Amino acid sequence: MAISVLSVASEAYPLVKTGGLGDVVGALPAALAPHGVDVTTFLPGYPRVLAALEAASSQQEHGGSGEVSHALGAPLHRWPDLLGAPAQLLEGEIAGHRLLVLDAPGYFAREGGPYGDPAGRDWDDNWRRFAAFARAAADVAGGAVAGERYDVLHAHDWQSGLAPAYLRFAPPAPAVPRTVMTIHNIAFQGRYDAGIFASLALPALAFAVDGVEYYGGVGYLKAGLESADAITTVSPTYAREILSPDFGMGLEGLIRTRQRRVSGIVNGIDTAVWSPSADPSLPARYDAATLARRAVNKRAVEQAFALDPGEGAIFCVVSRLTWQKGMDVLADAIPALVERGGRLALLGSGDAWLEQAFRDAAERFPGQIGVRLGYDEALSHLLQAGSDAILIPSRFEPCGLTQLYGLAYGCVPVVARTGGLADTVIHANAAALAAGVATGIQFDTVTYESLVGAIALATDLYADAERWEQIQRAGMAADFSWATSGRRYASLYRELLAA
Ligand code: ADP
Repeated sequence: MAISVLSVASEAYPLVKTGGLGDVVGALPAALAPHGVDVTTFLPGYPRVLAALEAASSQQEHGGSGEVSHALGAPLHRWPDLLGAPAQLLEGEIAGHRLLVLDAPGYFAREGGPYGDPAGRDWDDNWRRFAAFARAAADVAGGAVAGERYDVLHAHDWQSGLAPAYLRFAPPAPAVPRTVMTIHNIAFQGRYDAGIFASLALPALAFAVDGVEYYGGVGYLKAGLESADAITTVSPTYAREILSPDFGMGLEGLIRTRQRRVSGIVNGIDTAVWSPSADPSLPARYDAATLARRAVNKRAVEQAFALDPGEGAIFCVVSRLTWQKGMDVLADAIPALVERGGRLALLGSGDAWLEQAFRDAAERFPGQIGVRLGYDEALSHLLQAGSDAILIPSRFEPCGLTQLYGLAYGCVPVVARTGGLADTVIHANAAALAAGVATGIQFDTVTYESLVGAIALATDLYADAERWEQIQRAGMAADFSWATSGRRYASLYRELLAA
């Protein structure tokens, strides 16, 4: 019989995405279906999500179909008071798979992003919004909603971290599902003052070292890691790295104690969304046999980023502009990149001082450095399809998706050797080049010298067109579809259910 999983997350592509979490949660249902796993995705009812449900239901009346479908029927369940505000459960579909939405206007009917206002400031009541979301998820998975039954609740990141804790400390019914907690980024932990505990509707005994208590306050991710039957993170290297203080960010002790339950499963890419031969955002589609067509996309990148036309290498960046992503080091390395004849097309948004640094660089090197500040899904596809290499100098990177998109698109990844970047890119050393298996460039520490060294190596390799194409083709041949990782999640669920 199929295993039923409630996948609980604050983002799912194509409805809500601020980063890799959205991509992964959006891809999981299709990735797991071939392995006998039925995934229902559970999302907060942000305006964008509710609008998509409504649009789908009116389209359905008119016989059309969109990214979400199913008529907006009567709510499946109502909570008159979900930690302080009323809420109801709506049903829909996302890309052909079942979707449940927590419609709670007091928490989610707001202009802005999933976590903050339009100016980017976190909402003051995020602790309550995501506690309510987790409480509702625990109710749905744990048998409090008629007609709903799940074998596994799979929580993603801190926003869902309290769900396993609610099932453990305040289950709605005696038989609870197994729980999995996935860490997509341990830097975001959902830490709050102890004062909120009284409003979480958890029994007093939950405020303990092996419960939700975290350095004297409440930790949402910590609560999930402490309560879940299994912990996963998104690459084997990151699973090892978070055992150390440098990467564990305060949770290393807990991870070490629970190490036997921790595994690293690399993210796949959704090939329905990311395939250069079928990508609707590209002026020219191509595959490994028609790489020459990338030239058309390269011209489009030059235009979009006001770069001087030319045959020299274009490096791109598609990233949050933050310290984690090593963007400060990249900003310093720009003169050296330009000196080596490189051009840079950067798409990103993030810390104000980094945005300013890249704006300044574009002004200082017009025609060589092009910058677009903001979030633009279609432009991110064009960059992968038209640039020659993608720079990812992350100080830590749980998995990273942009290097996987780069591999699939023949946009050679130049990456720091950490986390998922270390696990997915084969460095172009002499042996790998001779064997024809190199897929990119790795460098060790995120410093000016090592990044500039990697850029220099990339421009040298790029100068030998045949060799460069060999690297592009090897990357395009690497399989980072969900096939392997889907199987691994399915086996993990099976092991938990058998235990
Ligand atoms: P993280 O989740 O840490 O931000 P990942 O590499 O795992 O990093 O995932 C980032 C995702 O967000 C990728 O799909 C990437 O293409 C996308 N992305 C990041 N910044 C932008 C942007 N400014 N515009 C469009 N897409 C972006």
